Amino acid sequence: MSKRPLLLSTLLLFVPVAAGSQDPAPEDPLPEGQTAITAKEIEHHVRFLASDEMQGRLVATEHSRRAARYLARALKRAQLEPAGDDGTFLQAVPFYRTEHEAVPELRVWAGEGDPLPLTYGVDFTARVRGAPVSTSELEVLSVRSVEDLPATADPKVALLFHARAGDAKRWLEERGAPRGKGWGLVLRLGRTKAGKPGSLPRGGFGVVKGELTDDPEEVSVHGEWRTKFDDGQATRVQLVFHGERRIIDDYNVVGCIRGVGTPERPELAKEVIVLSAHYDHLGTRPGRDGGPPIVFNGADDDASGVAAVLEFAEAFAAGPKPARTLVFLLATGEERRILGTYHYVDHPFFPLEETVCNLNFEMLGRPDEVVGGAGKLWLTGYERSTLGPAFAERGIDVVADGRPDQNFFMRSDNIVFVRKGIVGQTLSTYNMHGDYHQPSDDWDALDYEHMEACARAGFAAAQLLADGSVSPEWNEGEPRLGRR
Ligand SMILES: [Zn+2]
Repeated sequence: MSKRPLLLSTLLLFVPVAAGSQDPAPEDPLPEGQTAITAKEIEHHVRFLASDEMQGRLVATEHSRRAARYLARALKRAQLEPAGDDGTFLQAVPFYRTEHEAVPELRVWAGEGDPLPLTYGVDFTARVRGAPVSTSELEVLSVRSVEDLPATADPKVALLFHARAGDAKRWLEERGAPRGKGWGLVLRLGRTKAGKPGSLPRGGFGVVKGELTDDPEEVSVHGEWRTKFDDGQATRVQLVFHGERRIIDDYNVVGCIRGVGTPERPELAKEVIVLSAHYDHLGTRPGRDGGPPIVFNGADDDASGVAAVLEFAEAFAAGPKPARTLVFLLATGEERRILGTYHYVDHPFFPLEETVCNLNFEMLGRPDEVVGGAGKLWLTGYERSTLGPAFAERGIDVVADGRPDQNFFMRSDNIVFVRKGIVGQTLSTYNMHGDYHQPSDDWDALDYEHMEACARAGFAAAQLLADGSVSPEWNEGEPRLGRR
């Protein structure tokens, strides 16, 4: 489960941990295979994923990759068909990350003599958009209107905008240089007060889509330097970075079972149901006084949902062929802007138009008294579609999300499908326990009997989708969600 968007903070730490630890042995043991959904197997999966050894499964680390391989083996043993890259269960998600070893420097020529060094955080801040590439010495060109902006971009020139960001953006687009493409640097007049000495810039992190951007960086000048730039005293600048952008592969884990339709409705075979959960979590933070790192184990969030989906995979594979096609998606990067699932919908195994529903599983580890305690599930966005009522009518113990103020509907992988117009909802039992996104979200705090009951109910719900008895629709058009 993601944090509430408004509270997004810097909890996600990229701290190197356990230096020298290696990629895993391939023999991380799976539980004894059975096709029944059992508390014992669920516990096995959770204990493995949420062990300290897994270091909190931070996206794009050796630990998340190790988790991915474990999950791939579980799907393979369940005899699913691989639905990742090249006949495997792994779908590579190419992440990039910008890492800084020291704060950037900005050298400014103002008047005669040597350049003056500005202090990062105090006199300037930099927004790293492309690779952190240092510039050469650049001429400063003041831009007060679109007329000041030459039609041909010059990489030896830094554009200084005496304008609002929105205007600058529009002018650059009008001149065919969106985001300053082709220019050496974009300079902005920042705050009138100087800032505080900056720690390292926040590294850019995302998924590589097509070409990596080579847009120029954006630098804001503050305090007295803002005035000097505004007055035209700064004639040349040079930005120097101490860092690099690295490409790091991580994986979604994907398997499928092809549907066979029914005699009356053979076309159901062409409809896809995605059953999903995310396996990444928050990693670690440094220990106190040089002690070992503190691990965010992520047992409830979301090893619990992953364990349930693994159990569904086994149970479906052992049963009769489903009418609809089933995709089992164990996603990475949910805790980083849901990037893994966004990558999946951009590169789906079956064309996305064929996907009719995403049923996602998040935080099933502890009973929620608001909906009746052990074994009771709630569905996010219950009132938005026909899905929840259709389950309830057919005897599945699923009720509405008892905490609509938390906006859980928007805070998990299902929302990615919703943004594509697909009915996507999450089954959960998150009871607002205090271990959410804390190091104490441990395997031994979960209630495995409760989870078995939830997984069985979740499986029964998934069966109704698989056999075609339930075909969800939005209640009133697609939900309006605003921008990603
Ligand atoms: Zn979370």
